[in-house]
Amino acid sequence: MTEKLFDTDSYITEFECKVIDLYTEDNFLCLILDRTAFFPEGGGQTCDKGWLNSANVENVQNIGGNIIHFVENSEENVKMFTVGSVLSGKIDFKKRFSDMQQHTGEHIFSGIVHSLYGYNNVGFHLGTEVVTLDFDGELKEDDVCKVENLVNKAVWDNLEIRVLFPSDEELSSIDYRSKIEIEGQTRLVEIPGVDMCACCAPHVKFTGEVGIIEVVNFERYKGGTRLSILCGERALADIRHKLNENRRISVLTKAKQSDTAVAVERLLEENERLKYEINGLNRRFLEGEAEKIEPTDKIIIFDSRLKDKLLSDFTLSLMEKASEFVACFCPDGDVIKYCIASKTIDLRPLCKELNTAFSGRGGGRPEIVQGSLTATEDAVRAFIEAK
Ligand SMILES: [Zn+2]
Repeated sequence: MTEKLFDTDSYITEFECKVIDLYTEDNFLCLILDRTAFFPEGGGQTCDKGWLNSANVENVQNIGGNIIHFVENSEENVKMFTVGSVLSGKIDFKKRFSDMQQHTGEHIFSGIVHSLYGYNNVGFHLGTEVVTLDFDGELKEDDVCKVENLVNKAVWDNLEIRVLFPSDEELSSIDYRSKIEIEGQTRLVEIPGVDMCACCAPHVKFTGEVGIIEVVNFERYKGGTRLSILCGERALADIRHKLNENRRISVLTKAKQSDTAVAVERLLEENERLKYEINGLNRRFLEGEAEKIEPTDKIIIFDSRLKDKLLSDFTLSLMEKASEFVACFCPDGDVIKYCIASKTIDLRPLCKELNTAFSGRGGGRPEIVQGSLTATEDAVRAFIEAK
């Protein structure tokens, strides 16, 4: 059985250990040690990374009660690691500390939600970015703000976090979260006045080390609420990124940093108004062009001004002038919108052919079909002119 150094001390970064067993699996050499500071993946948290001697520890898993350290199955490593080898281990403490900030932040958050609303954390994931928490009850925007204030207050109170290993008798009188069936000794993480929870993961010693807890997002999820939070260094990086984005918007819109949303709203309104105006001008211009077109068998037009409803209006306005069909196309990036009308032929087979030839979609009635194609203007022009 491996002694778990992280169980009682989250700050051991370097340690001596001995290989007690090893085996190979795929491209890895799998090591079991007499003691380790490497936290294996578990309880919603990814594993520690680090080094055993000079070898990178790529993965750490708890398999059948054994903590397995995965290192590359290289010639050098096979020589270095044998049963009985004494090794020096070192964990990547930057990653570990970030994980601890997130995990302790999650306990504070879940503890406060539980005591205020009685909701349980029924899903927890601590990845390399945001931490997601699923609660079995609905939190509204006001509730989320209230919780965000209280969790940060618990951080500023700099409470000392304790890890307890109670006897079965003591455990029966303690009220704690996460009462899952755990074989063997239950490990409790206590944040005084805030939370008591069964947990196998390393935590920071004082809540102040969490730094800040930021709610990044919340949404209704399976009848409850899914929240994404960031703590400590990750929250700082996120806030810095968002402030930079806002600063850029402020420069671009010439608005104060505190008023960027109003400035963007104004720009969007202006953009809509201009689009409307341009469409009106295009319509007038194209109506003039349509009048100049002489009657013929086929009329084929490509024009990027034929946006939205103008495409079908323009096509229909030319219908009487074409004895076979009028086909209008509006190229827009990689996509070409089309509208084809005829007073003499059923256009549906042609529409089908076009869609098949140019990964298109669309359809319509015998006398008018509409849709979009993914193709170049030249290819579509060659195709329709050959009809
Ligand atoms: Zn936990």
